[in-house]
Amino acid sequence: MSAAAAMVSALRAAAARALSGAGAYGPLERLCGRARGGFVLAYHNLPAARFVEQVEALAPSRPLALDELVSRHARGATTHGLFAITFDDGVGETVRTIAAVAAARAWPVTFYLPTAYLDAPGGMPFQWLRAIERYAPPVAITAGGETFDFRPPGAVRAFARATTKVMYTRPWAEYGPRLRALVDALVARGLVAPEMLAAPPAITWPEVEALAREDVVAFESHGVTHTAVAALDDDALERELVRSRQKIAAHTGRDCRHFCYPFGGAASIGAVAPARVARHYRSATTMTRGRLGRQPLELLPRVPVYPHDDAALVRLKVLTA
Ligand SMILES: [Zn+2]
Repeated sequence: MSAAAAMVSALRAAAARALSGAGAYGPLERLCGRARGGFVLAYHNLPAARFVEQVEALAPSRPLALDELVSRHARGATTHGLFAITFDDGVGETVRTIAAVAAARAWPVTFYLPTAYLDAPGGMPFQWLRAIERYAPPVAITAGGETFDFRPPGAVRAFARATTKVMYTRPWAEYGPRLRALVDALVARGLVAPEMLAAPPAITWPEVEALAREDVVAFESHGVTHTAVAALDDDALERELVRSRQKIAAHTGRDCRHFCYPFGGAASIGAVAPARVARHYRSATTMTRGRLGRQPLELLPRVPVYPHDDAALVRLKVLTA
């Protein structure tokens, strides 16, 4: 380790120690909040107990409904001391357990849904890829007229990395059918048990309808097919934005006014889509880490939080966002 790296790691350890109790966090968070406003947490999937621990770690800041946080931010009111909680992708188990916690604690939570995932069983390509990376054995296998040679060490991982890159910026047709064929071939040849490669089931529409009656639960759009918007032409983008919004509003009985960019990085968003998104939605969130600050409503940063983040790390992420 270089001297600079050692210093960074020592500083990080000192910061983590200081933030492991709520004592140092409160005053620091007040300073950050006054200067740069509130923030939006970005979650995917995690156990309920970890979620509770992480949200409680951020007191005295408190969760507020995304719609309300965005409204305040839009009219220039202070958002200091406030944050919104958002969950991407609509995995059934996650939505059920987190919505129950949200209702019990009166914590407003927003779930961003990719509507095609709820419409048809089978899951999404990034879920298939995750399962392939985890379970594909070191064999050569032909699928969809293509041979995938996973025999060399690291080959599966290299395939996953290369395919992820394609997925983040290219249309669904360039990776979806290929990954589906590979999953089907691995199962058909008895190389991987079907349940290993099965994507987690989505929340169902009837459950969305029931949960939407809870004041603290909101459902918003994550597109239709969870395709990177940078990969879509004008018509396809329009369809993703309008159809997902209409479908979610029809099932919840409420306006669908907020969008979350699939994959959420700058390359997946591109330069053109945000202006179009702004025509259909009041806000859109990314995976870029930051506070509300001065960003336009159609490119709001978030603070991504993961299951392995303990209370001190969540505080550190928020303070340095
Ligand atoms: Zn997503």
